[in-house]
Amino acid sequence: MTSSHSQALFDRATGVMPGGVSSPVRAFGAVGGTPPFIAAGNGARITDADGRTYIDLVASWGPLILGHAHPAVVEAVASAAALGTSFGAPTHGEVELAELIVSALPSVEMVRFVSSGTEATMSALRLARAATGRARVLKFAGCYHGHVDSLLVSAGSGVATLGLPDSPGVTDATRSQTVVAAYNSTESVAEAFDAFGDDLAAVIVEPIAANMGVVPAVNGFLEDLRRRCDEAGTLLIFDEVVTGFRVGWSGAQGSLGITPDLTTLGKVVGGGLPIGAYGGRRDLMEMVAPSGPVYQAGTLSGNPISVAAGLATLRQLSAPGTYERLESLGAALESGIERAIKQAGVPAGVQRVGSMMTLFFVDGVVTNFDEARECDTTRFRHFFHEMLAWGVYLPPSQLEASFVSLAHTTDDIGEVVSAVEESLERSWP
Ligand SMILES: *Cc1c(COP(=O)(O)O)cnc(C)c1O
Repeated sequence: MTSSHSQALFDRATGVMPGGVSSPVRAFGAVGGTPPFIAAGNGARITDADGRTYIDLVASWGPLILGHAHPAVVEAVASAAALGTSFGAPTHGEVELAELIVSALPSVEMVRFVSSGTEATMSALRLARAATGRARVLKFAGCYHGHVDSLLVSAGSGVATLGLPDSPGVTDATRSQTVVAAYNSTESVAEAFDAFGDDLAAVIVEPIAANMGVVPAVNGFLEDLRRRCDEAGTLLIFDEVVTGFRVGWSGAQGSLGITPDLTTLGKVVGGGLPIGAYGGRRDLMEMVAPSGPVYQAGTLSGNPISVAAGLATLRQLSAPGTYERLESLGAALESGIERAIKQAGVPAGVQRVGSMMTLFFVDGVVTNFDEARECDTTRFRHFFHEMLAWGVYLPPSQLEASFVSLAHTTDDIGEVVSAVEESLERSWP
C-alpha cells in the first residue's frame, strides 16, 4: 500500500534522517512497507498524512494512557506554555509531581526528574555503582532499558527486531560490565550471582517485561531476585518506565508487592511529553548531587510543560475506576482475540497484563526472550499489514506491546476484534 503523502515524506526523510525516522522501530523495518506519517490524533484514533484514520494501539509506545489530545492534557500544556516554556530553575509543578509519585509508589521516597527513560536508567546505574562501589550490572535478555551503552547488551524492543543483539559502538570494556541472565529463570540468576555476586552493583529488571512482547514475571522470580540482592548487597532496580502508572496506580511494585531499591519511570508520567524520572530510598537518592556527590544534571530536566502534562494525566488516572476500566477493556480485547485465534485455528496466543498485551504467533506460553524469538515473524508481517488495511495501527513488530487507553470504547475493541478475525484468516490462507 503506497500512500502518496506518507511515501513522499518518507522519501524526503530518508535523505536527511537515518532510516527516515527519529527512533528505529518507526521505520517499519520489521514489517516492511512505508510507515504512515501521522498528522493528528484524537482520543483512540490517529489520522495519517493521507487522511486515513486508524484505531491506535501504539499510544506513542505507552505514554498516552488517556488517548490522544485529551482535553485536560491539552489545556494543561497550553496553560503551562503560556507561562513560559523553560526556566532552568525550580518550579511549583515539579514539587507536585514529585509528591504525587512518592505518594503512589511504595518504594520511592525521593525522585529526580530527567528528560527520558534512557536518562533515568543510565542515572540509576550510576547511582547504584556509586552506592555499592561495584562495577557490574545484571540485566535480562529481552528486557529493554533505553539506549544506555551498558544496557544495549541482549536488549529487547527495536534492538531485538533489527537483529542487533549488541550495538557496534559499545566497547568491550563496557560490555564486560554487563552480565546477562534469562528472564524468569532463577537458575540463570543463581549462576550469575555465583559468578559475579561480589561485584554486582545492581540488578535491573522490567518487573513485567514489555519489550519482548508482554511477558509477565512468573511466580517467585522477582521474590528470588529481591532475596539474592539482599544477600549479596546488590541493589534491585525496577525499570517501570512502561509499567509505572500503567498497570496500576502503584506500578508493578505495588501490584506485585515487591519493593525495589530504585525505580525508573518515564512514558505515562509525562503524559506524552518528554520526561523520565528515577527515585527510591532516601539514603540512596540523597547521594545524588547536589545533596551528595553523584553528578547528574539536565538543562530541560523537570520541564514545566512535561510536568504539567504528567500532572494532568496522573490526576485523570487517580479518579476512581480508571484502572478497573483499563482492565475490563484489556480483558475484552484479550478474550475477543482468543476467540478469533480459536476460530482461525492458528498457533498463537495472547499475553496481557491490564491494558498492555501482545498477540504472539507461537504455540504455548512465552516466558523469556528465546521463546519470544520463536514467533512466526513472517505471519506477523502479513497480519500487521492486514490490520493496518482494516484501520488498526499496531506496533510494527512482533516483539512489542499494544496499549489500550481510557479513550478506547467497547465499540473500538469490537472493531479491533473484527479486524483480527479477518486478518488472521487472510494471514493463514
Ligand atoms: C521505553 C523504555 C525505556 C526508555 O525510555 P525512553 O524515554 O525511550 O528513553 C526504558 N525502559 C523501558 C522498560 C522502556 O520501555
